[in-house]
Amino acid sequence: MKENEIMKWLLEVEHPVKGDRNLVELGMVEKVEIGDNRITVTLGFAKHRDPLAEYLIGSTKAAIIRNAPEGTEIEVKTIIKDASQPKKKPGLDLGFEELENVKHVIGIASGKGGVGKSTVAVNLAIALARLGYKVGLADADVYGPSVPKMTATEELIPDAYQEGEKEVIMPLEKYGVKWMSIGYFAKPEQALIWRGPMACNALKQMILQVRWGELDFLLIDMPPGTGDIHISLVHDIPMEGAVIVTTPQDVALADVEKGVNMFRNESIRKPIFGLIENMAWFTPAEHPQEKYYIFGKDGGARMAEKYGIPLLGQIPIVQSIREGGDSGEPAALSTRPDGLAFATLAQKISEIL
Ligand code: ADP
Repeated sequence: MKENEIMKWLLEVEHPVKGDRNLVELGMVEKVEIGDNRITVTLGFAKHRDPLAEYLIGSTKAAIIRNAPEGTEIEVKTIIKDASQPKKKPGLDLGFEELENVKHVIGIASGKGGVGKSTVAVNLAIALARLGYKVGLADADVYGPSVPKMTATEELIPDAYQEGEKEVIMPLEKYGVKWMSIGYFAKPEQALIWRGPMACNALKQMILQVRWGELDFLLIDMPPGTGDIHISLVHDIPMEGAVIVTTPQDVALADVEKGVNMFRNESIRKPIFGLIENMAWFTPAEHPQEKYYIFGKDGGARMAEKYGIPLLGQIPIVQSIREGGDSGEPAALSTRPDGLAFATLAQKISEIL
């Protein structure tokens, strides 16, 4: 491996808010060091709190992993070029100023992936907006950000700018909701390699540096599961509490238990406002009155009772909900029965909060 070769790989890393220019063109690659089975790249940032620092570090690693021989150890260091600026790690000292005018910050969690957490989060956000509330949604699902696709905004890139000492990211607006997603900055295959602290910092930046403005509800679509990222997120973001999405299947219910325990954990202790049972029954498009309990009946209700939390709503499996997610026009925009299921859920949540 030669330095030139590695520089060529880094041409693949484009800066998301500086047109299509890559790190090499932008003069951000300060140093490339090659050791035995090891590559160290140093990136230079002009500002001590670049909102995209974590993203660019992640993308740089991803570009090297794609090209380097398997097993190569990779390190990406950063330096601040302007020596007059205090040197701080990006993202670690963010305040809550941007959340000052947000009334309720609510986590949308699930014990495991694939239960429809993101589908519920996006539709709930739209349904709350349709009830007249000011709503934002931060898609913090680092392992599979779905807001860009579900709202057909994947071609857009949020504006980011400097305001005095501070970096600000503007949310995108569509369907009456303000959206932010880790997916606007990272392609799915890049997001996947983010681990531990790197993912946590990127997520915190993506929530705390966003100019949300005045909101009644900010929903945080959390990554599925109950690992370190979740605990750190719940710790560092002033969430009022959470709702948990599940399906009626027994195995999903066992995972719910982990989710419930996470929020009730000593070091977290956040209220769980309730459970949302997704895929509660199947209703064929041509027979809207029929209900088939293909994942079992009343699993959500049993679990809610077991943990003493309310069952906030039941969402059926309907083809149009899946299609709405794929086409970027979520079901909650419609007045069909599937859209109304989300409206009922939104009504319930606004009542309890
Ligand atoms: P998660 O965020 O929990 O991983 P997603 O929201 O991405 O899950 O949903 C997984 C898949 O299931 C998607 O294809 C989505 O369209 C589909 N889906 C989710 N909920 C429903 C539903 N109630 N009816 C039909 N399809 C659904």
